[in-house]
Amino acid sequence: MGRKSKLRKSVVGKSCIFCGGSVAATTLEHAPPKVMFEDKIRPIGHEFPACARCNNGMSSLDQIAAMFAHISGDLSKGRDGRFTERLLRGVANNNPDVFNYIDILNPSKPLKIDFDGREQEGYRVSVNRGLFRKWLNPWAAKQACGLWYFETGKAVSETDRVIVTWLTNDQLIFEGAPDSILTNLPNARGMHMGRRDFHRQFSYLFGLSNDHDFGAFFSVYQDSVGVLSVVVPDHMVSRYGSIISFGELYRVSARDGLQRCLSGPIAEFFPL
Ligand SMILES: [Zn+2]
Repeated sequence: MGRKSKLRKSVVGKSCIFCGGSVAATTLEHAPPKVMFEDKIRPIGHEFPACARCNNGMSSLDQIAAMFAHISGDLSKGRDGRFTERLLRGVANNNPDVFNYIDILNPSKPLKIDFDGREQEGYRVSVNRGLFRKWLNPWAAKQACGLWYFETGKAVSETDRVIVTWLTNDQLIFEGAPDSILTNLPNARGMHMGRRDFHRQFSYLFGLSNDHDFGAFFSVYQDSVGVLSVVVPDHMVSRYGSIISFGELYRVSARDGLQRCLSGPIAEFFPL
């Protein structure tokens, strides 16, 4: 069977999991995308049925999120940065506007940073939060739809809300992941290819409510940046508003796909 017919077979009768679960899927979407993995070597798994609309139009975001994670990851892994350079060039070609949000030309003085007992020199670069609002948060919300489906077998529904916030490598290095995340998310998952373990490129912790109507995920990309995402029914958002007092709120619909909520108790971005 050819690749295309195999693909058709794998999504036949399934619905897109990124726009509410009622639109017929015609493609498979990789979440996280191939480009998030070094040299685009991605293990099999975490591929999800998607409609053409939800599958297309996100590749720019994929590239931007990958660049963001890889810039940070090079520092912690002491890599040569060739793959990151390709990503930087790609983003500069496709979305040059992104660099108005990252003050890459004005880094801080060099800082000594301790990575697992290995001292490295790094620079602090300031990032405008518009980078998250415009590109990284919608990308993270889409990833959350994939994680939710993978762990519950359900698509995020039109009455669910997805809340996302990023933890930069600066936050993770100097403050660490908040204890509330580490203690409340009892399960861990990564990806493998044969014996090769990809958890230093992508892994996540998660917790689900007993009824599987509420879930939280903490994903780490390239061992350096994190995303905290929560899937919650809309009626619980305000009830848990004081607990989930972070992040930006998204919803999905068959009509509009994945959309930022323009109003609501926590529709605005609150840094941790
Ligand atoms: Zn869709």
